[in-house]
Amino acid sequence: MSILIKNQIDRRQQSRQAGGSILMLIAAACITTGVSAQQSPPGLIDFSPKHDVMIRNDDGTLQPMDKPYYRSKLIAPGTWQIESDGDYSYLLEGDNEALAIDTGYGAGNIRAYLQTLTKKPLRFVANTHYHFDHTANNAYFDAAYMSAGTAEKVTIPYPSFRGINFPRDYPKVIIGDGYKFQLGNREIEAFIVGNHTVGGTVYLDRRERILFSGDEIMEPNEPVNISVEQFAMNMRKLEAHRKEFDRLAGGPGLLEAADIEKYLAAAEKVLSGKQGELIAPRLPRAVNESPNTDATGPIIYQRRLVRPPDRPADMGTPNPNLRTMSYEDRHITYHVNNIH
Ligand SMILES: [Zn+2]
Repeated sequence: MSILIKNQIDRRQQSRQAGGSILMLIAAACITTGVSAQQSPPGLIDFSPKHDVMIRNDDGTLQPMDKPYYRSKLIAPGTWQIESDGDYSYLLEGDNEALAIDTGYGAGNIRAYLQTLTKKPLRFVANTHYHFDHTANNAYFDAAYMSAGTAEKVTIPYPSFRGINFPRDYPKVIIGDGYKFQLGNREIEAFIVGNHTVGGTVYLDRRERILFSGDEIMEPNEPVNISVEQFAMNMRKLEAHRKEFDRLAGGPGLLEAADIEKYLAAAEKVLSGKQGELIAPRLPRAVNESPNTDATGPIIYQRRLVRPPDRPADMGTPNPNLRTMSYEDRHITYHVNNIH
């Protein structure tokens, strides 16, 4: 694990004293050890303004949005999948310390919860991308590691969180492609492959043979937001490491590693000149679930799913320039004017 070096901390503190501006730190290429960054994490982020909003659990029960909900599942030795609200987060434990991947947007101190799962010190989070359902609770950590593209938009809350005050000036460490976290007998390498978002980052854990893929891989349909050519390059970059992982662990849950080859094959069909099918846009599940059926009752959101106020305004809008290309049971959706 990289540790912030002393003079960076001093500079940050000076910067804060000077005007409270956020100072992005560039992670040192070499791992520096022996100095810890002792920040004071904030107290609870106060969700009480949303007490009257209800979250529906998978078993149908409801609970107020400001009540913490954390569940974990061991998915590999020293590796937990965390369910709260927003997308899944993960906890990785090495011999020396632990690392969180993403923080969801559920109420409560996720760092304190994760620390109940591991005896190793947990100080840092690594973000896969800037979406708020992965980053809302970053401020509980000593620092959040992320790509430059992620850092640009990481602290923007979703509309359904209006009224809650999220700290925005927590320490951020900018990492580049190939950055490695050293957790002690467990190395985690970052690959920047932004398609879902600019700066989207995945993390390869060779010890447990898992690629933590954030939202960069979706099943069974992958929306291509960049050119098909760029997307194929990203998939080739990950495919070059396919012998080093067997599973994907992402925002939607555990996914098949073979998705990488299938999406690459679909992209290569497009690049070879084949044209995909015109498709009716698919709506994600949440769009079809009204937040509540009784106009006088409380707002109800389904746990983990995208909330209707937070979805992009153009989601589901027919677009004659979108096509779908399939390979086996996987599909990419791309824009006909954004192939090369
Ligand atoms: Zn996302």
